Amino acid sequence: MLIVCVEMALVEAELVGGLLACPSCREVLRPWGHARRRALRCRSGDRWLRPRRARCRGCAGTHVLLPDVCLVRRQDEVPVIGAAIAASVAGMGYRRIAGRLGVPADTVRGWLRRFVERAELLRAHFTRCAVALDPELGPVLPAGSGFADAVEVIAVAARAWVLRFGAADPWRTASRLSGGGLLATRAPAFPWA
Ligand SMILES: [Zn+2]
Repeated sequence: MLIVCVEMALVEAELVGGLLACPSCREVLRPWGHARRRALRCRSGDRWLRPRRARCRGCAGTHVLLPDVCLVRRQDEVPVIGAAIAASVAGMGYRRIAGRLGVPADTVRGWLRRFVERAELLRAHFTRCAVALDPELGPVLPAGSGFADAVEVIAVAARAWVLRFGAADPWRTASRLSGGGLLATRAPAFPWA
């Protein structure tokens, strides 16, 4: 799995041009057909994606190039998931968040639970990302809870990304920086380390 920019034409150009690296061994990825079609629930309605598949020239592993609007094994686009997390840290209950976003309440509760479970891991991971993006970065001040600290440092890392690479949606950046694993069961695997 590799998280890429959502502009598929750009991804295609990067893939064909040999600019994408294997997340396992850093060798060059080559085009290798497509993954299965999947529906992504977006604010603007369902959107069908058919992600590109790539094969590594070095280790021969294959990887699905998942756009950065997605998170691994989540059906909703990441800006919606991020909006739910931001509303929760601001004190809103999950049922109200669900009503506002038009998403089932259990789904929102599941996102929030997983995020809280991973808060310390995410805080540590995004702190490393933020420092890698901006070595001059000062200390990130505690925001009052493990949950709030994780949200704060994700925002700091997203701002550092923008300063370095230009405008980008903060939650799509968070998807990229976590390898799509923001709400995954395993630790984020990102090649900053
Ligand atoms: Zn490889």
